[in-house]
This record gives sequence, C-alpha cells and structure tokens, in this order.
Amino acid sequence: MNRVRTPSGRPEEHWASCLLKWYCRHRRDLPWRRTTDPYAVWISEIMLQQTRVDTAIPYYERFLQRFPSVQALATAELESVLKTWEGLGYYARARNLHKAARHLVTESQGQIPQTAEQWAELPGIGRYTAAAIASICFHEQVPVVDGNVLRVGARLWQLACKSRARLETELLPRLRAQIPARNPGDFNQAMMELGAMVCLPQNPQCAACPLAAVCLARRAGNAHLYPAPVQTAKIPHYQVGAGLVEQRGRILIARRSTDRMLGGLWELPGGKPGPGESLEQATARRVRAETGLTVTVGRRLCQVRHTYSHFKITLVVFACRPLAGTRKAGSGVDATQWVRPPDLERYAFSTATRKALQQWMPEKT
Ligand code: SF4
Repeated sequence: MNRVRTPSGRPEEHWASCLLKWYCRHRRDLPWRRTTDPYAVWISEIMLQQTRVDTAIPYYERFLQRFPSVQALATAELESVLKTWEGLGYYARARNLHKAARHLVTESQGQIPQTAEQWAELPGIGRYTAAAIASICFHEQVPVVDGNVLRVGARLWQLACKSRARLETELLPRLRAQIPARNPGDFNQAMMELGAMVCLPQNPQCAACPLAAVCLARRAGNAHLYPAPVQTAKIPHYQVGAGLVEQRGRILIARRSTDRMLGGLWELPGGKPGPGESLEQATARRVRAETGLTVTVGRRLCQVRHTYSHFKITLVVFACRPLAGTRKAGSGVDATQWVRPPDLERYAFSTATRKALQQWMPEKT
C-alpha cells in the first residue's frame, strides 16, 4: 500500500501523487472508466446521481446501445428515452438529458462543450457534473465535490461544518490546491473512489488508506465524528388513489405533463384526497379531471408503497367503470389512451404504477 510520507504529516502537503498511485492500483473496472468519450461520460455522470453503481451499469449499457450519440438522443422521442430510463427513478434526469441533447444539436450542430462553465449551461447539469465531465474528458483542473468527497475531505481536514453548502465552500479551495494539472480527472475519480471503497461512512478502513499519514481525523481517532450530522426533516407519507378504468378489455392510462414531477411517464389516473374526501371520492374526481370520464369506483384491487426523495406514498388502486363523458387529456396530463393489458409493456410507467400493474396482472390472468 502506498502511503503519503510528508515532513509534517499535515494535509496541506501535496498528497495527490500518492492518491493517484493508489487509484491506479485499486480502482474498480467500471464501463464508463473505459472511455473518455464525453457523451458516454455525461450519461454515466447523470445516471450516477442518486443511483448506486451496480444499479446504473445495466442502464448505462442499454442507454448507450439505444442512443449511441448525442444526435441519436436528440432525434429520439422523449417517450422512448423515458422507456429506456424506466425503473431508474428521478426522471427529470432523463428529460433534461433529452432536452440538452436537442439543444446541442440545434444550437451548436451537435458540438460537445469542453469547459465546466459551458457544460453548466445545459439543462440538468450542476456544478458537480460539469466539473466531472470537464476534468475527465478535457483535463480541466477543476475539483468535484460529491457525497464521497465531502466525507473524505471533512475527515482529512477535520471540518465540522453543519451544512453541506458550508462544507463544500471550505473544501473547494483545499481541493484546488491539490488537483494536479496533468490528470485532474483521475484525481477527482480517485477522491470519489476513496470515499466509496475505503473512507466508508460507518467504518472507515484507515489501515488501507493512502492518505492515512495526513488525515487529521485518523490521527485524532475521531473519524466517526466527520462529517457533522445534518438534521433531516421527517418525510411526509401520502395516500394516493388510482383508478383502473376498464372497458371492453382495455384499461385507461394517462401521461403526466412534462412540467410535473414524473412528467412524460404514463400512470393510472388518480390523486391525493382533499380535506374530508375519501380515497374513492378523490379517485373519481381526479379520473374525471384528468381524462374527462365520469366513473364508478368499486373494490380495491391492490396497493403498493413507494418512497420518493421528499415523500412516501401508498398507492391504492380501485376497479373503475366508465359511466359518461368523452375521453380527453385534462388537468395535469397531455395524453390519454385505452390499452390492452399485454400492450402495457410498451409504455414507460413510474415505478409505483409499474409495481401496481404487476400486482394486478396476475389477478387478471
Ligand atoms: Fe478516511 Fe481514514 Fe483515510 Fe482519513 S485515514 S481519509 S478517515 S479512511
């Protein structure tokens, strides 16, 4: 194991070469590390936001097979992009990728940006992603700060900031002083890899760490105190009713408008109850508002629980029959469709709706 040896053992010393040697020897072989194609790296960086590496790998490979270039992504229908993304969650990422690809093709003939500043102008690209792509693909000397880097940095310099923003502000100049001109992308990936594989949240493996000699928290024996815990609010839990409206062997689905959360995805029409309203009443009201159809709401068919980033839901699905009205795309949706159950597979649904349909289908067969 390479360990940094410095006269003072202080983290201000340059330890990047030690970190890079460790990275060269121990890094995981991940598909996006076998390329410096900025389009592929861009896709991987977007997928890795909020998603674990092993979950992202098959999606990354499928996505690049289906949309191998920025032009292919720009000319695709949003529906097929969402279908390829289905199950990965945080669908705004897919909508923004599609929007950014279209922007690049129409505004700059498909030319890929090179600097972090240019990348940050595209939809869905924040400071982290812009810095990651620019450093990995174009060798820009700009550090990245993700959750792993925050943890490593907080321990390395014993930074007990109470907020993520404050910690990032403290960390960035320190990282800028370390990041090498020659291979800044490897430095950034090495910091993230160290956080993911060695400087673990609960149980840091200091004996295997290439930065042990300069880590202030290790020396003080209190790595577990860094980063300082951040108070998180309890997330609310909502009941949501959905109508499985059936007519002549087909069911009614509605597509959420693209300006809403989960925009562009199909679902069973429905929604949350208002004050004093039952789930059944809310379901009938929302089915009418979204699809133009008045329905009778019958028995409960199934229910599923799902957790989003800021809330949880229990989705209760009711058997519904249309009574009156003309089908249209109403409040909060931009299309409605009657679909035979075997054809549901062709549409992109949110995970909660997909789970509900999977529970309902065995009952059907
Ligand atoms: Fe993390 Fe320990 Fe390495 Fe410090 S020495 S960076 S606490 S793994």
